[in-house]
Amino acid sequence: MVPTPHYAGKRVVVMGLGKSGLSAAASLRAGGAKIEVWDDKKASLDEATAKGFPAFNDNLADVAAVIWSPGVPHGFPRVHPLAAKARAAHVPLVCDVDLLLEAQPAATVVAITGTNGKSTTTSLTAHLFQQAGRKTAVGGNLGIPALDLEPLAKDGTYVLELSSYQLELVPHLAADTAVLLNITPDHLDRHGGMDGYIAAKKRVFVGQRGHRAAIIGIDDEHCAAICEALRKDGTHRVIPISVKQAVSGGVYVTDGVLIDATAGAPRTILDLRTVARLPGAHNWQNAAAAAAAALSQGLSIDAIAAGLKTFPGLKHRQELVAVVNNAAFVNDSKATNADATEKALVCYDNIYWIAGGLPKEGGIAPLAPLFGRVRHAFLIGQAASDFASVLKGKVPLSLFESLEAAVAAAGNMALAEKLPQATVLLSPACASFDMFKSFEHRGDVFRDTVLKLWPQTAPQNMRAS
Ligand code: ADP
Repeated sequence: MVPTPHYAGKRVVVMGLGKSGLSAAASLRAGGAKIEVWDDKKASLDEATAKGFPAFNDNLADVAAVIWSPGVPHGFPRVHPLAAKARAAHVPLVCDVDLLLEAQPAATVVAITGTNGKSTTTSLTAHLFQQAGRKTAVGGNLGIPALDLEPLAKDGTYVLELSSYQLELVPHLAADTAVLLNITPDHLDRHGGMDGYIAAKKRVFVGQRGHRAAIIGIDDEHCAAICEALRKDGTHRVIPISVKQAVSGGVYVTDGVLIDATAGAPRTILDLRTVARLPGAHNWQNAAAAAAAALSQGLSIDAIAAGLKTFPGLKHRQELVAVVNNAAFVNDSKATNADATEKALVCYDNIYWIAGGLPKEGGIAPLAPLFGRVRHAFLIGQAASDFASVLKGKVPLSLFESLEAAVAAAGNMALAEKLPQATVLLSPACASFDMFKSFEHRGDVFRDTVLKLWPQTAPQNMRAS
């Protein structure tokens, strides 16, 4: 845990008592702050008061800061009364990541954001640093809450995934390397529209003094415009990345080959088509960003290539769980909408596709150009009948009462048909909450079922696509 002594003796309110809020409260208490806690949910508040944290007494008079949990809306769609009160009293709203930055000023900070690919890029970047022998801690929006990370000194690097919500609450951010992967419309209700969302994402570059590295994916119009603006600004070392075009001064991917052009003549880092754990052009964008971050912190292209080759991948994102004869079993439970499922469908042929769950707006109609890759659809959950009507006449399909039954049927069909490079793919294009606690729970059930039905089929290296 990172203690936060800079609030010693001061009154601090922790608002929002989930994982990161409780971690902040514990860290502040260890640092000697006078904590009060609040949560609009009574059960969460009761849980925290039972741990000895007094409830906020509604008086902000001498409060030094409100530690705001990023998951709780404060400005949109409605202004939260406590946020309004704090602003009126000039009490700053900050999140746990800001406390970490204040408490550990000597460590290097690599901050990563974007609409999609944050977790993959953050884990991959941390992996590159770790493989190169750098002392690294990874967390933030991903996995471990910021203040549960280990303290790091000058020789250490924090690799932090930052959501748009967190970026609104980190006044002390001044990343040594900042990464903005991409921007597509998301969470617009929380940011008061697209302009608010873009403004929040752009904040990953705030406070960057002395030409610190600003890495930015230029394959969408919003990020391309931000890149231009940063260049005109002249205060950052701008490193553009692309999987669509060669960019001078940047890092890019041409025909699957990752190229470093940050220092003069372009140099090949690695053919990403040989990296089984990073399938698809979306992952090439993540690899380019991670490589650019590593280059900006002085890693060699050999170290980067070695790290890319050994990246184990993330669970639930095109995670290979088993290979049985001709068939690979792939867990893409994180794909909770059609956009995400598209990224997986383009990677395989002869797909035995397990889909469905709690339907999302837009359904699967936009995936029609990829239906030719699907041998058979195995549909589950509330969306099953809607998906069936979209697929009817285009893809053979069956409906199932449970994921376990769908896995058994899909696996048996893939093995019986003996098509080369068959893939049993769980990529639901739906939320999980109709049948599961979370997308992680759904992915775990998929993996456990596969390994129960086809034991001793530990993953081998997946075929590149
Ligand atoms: P995030 O943390 O931003 O949600 P993840 O790394 O967890 O992103 O990936 C979630 C899903 O988003 C993946 O399963 C894939 O479908 C999609 N994805 C990953 N990287 C990208 C990218 N660079 N561009 C577009 N989509 C992506």
